[in-house]
Amino acid sequence: MTKKAQVMVVTPHPDDAEFGVAGTVARWTSEGKDVIYVVSTNGDKGTSDTNMKPDELARIREQEQLAAAKLLGVREVIFLRHPDQSLEDTPEFRKEIVRLIRMYRPEIVVTAAPYRRYLWHRDHRITGRVTLDAVFPYARDILAYPDLLEEGLQPHKVEEVLLWGAEDANYRSNITDTFDVKIAALRCHKSQISDNPSTGLKERMRERYKTLAEGEDYELAEAFHRIELRR
Ligand SMILES: [Zn+2]
Repeated sequence: MTKKAQVMVVTPHPDDAEFGVAGTVARWTSEGKDVIYVVSTNGDKGTSDTNMKPDELARIREQEQLAAAKLLGVREVIFLRHPDQSLEDTPEFRKEIVRLIRMYRPEIVVTAAPYRRYLWHRDHRITGRVTLDAVFPYARDILAYPDLLEEGLQPHKVEEVLLWGAEDANYRSNITDTFDVKIAALRCHKSQISDNPSTGLKERMRERYKTLAEGEDYELAEAFHRIELRR
């Protein structure tokens, strides 16, 4: 019933995890950590191509996500397949995440920061918020879901949460050695990223992660808001 993984990444859309945490994921997997992805929505509205059909786009984006995850050494990708731009903070969505936390029993959960002032994609806000709620208190508390307990899914205490996209980052992760594989994973998302030499994707990214590493004794960093939970 349970299949332990040290890290669970809950991403709103296919491609967000690559922007947010792929450099750190590649480092973790190279250190032998088991990482799994949970993809909340099917991303079926992420296009400006007038000929693209939603079903086709969802299918393409799953393939892109699987290719990126494979490059990063992610063990498993779970697709929840909620329609893009339609996530709500519902008891059903929260329970889906609780069920997976209790099943995989991660030490670290990574997701999108729920709070940015002003413009922030609704699916990112809701994925982050619902995942935090699932971590605490719902995955932890024995009486929260008697039916999950009956299925054999015991409560679980996550030790650490990392939020990407936070305006108040307090934690940096060294991605100097894994920057190239992060870029390669991002490039798997062909439906989302126009990447020809003139767009300078890699150069722009390098500058960005260099800025985030300022003051550290390494070159490139991803930044997070980190929450440590008391055991
Ligand atoms: Zn997104």
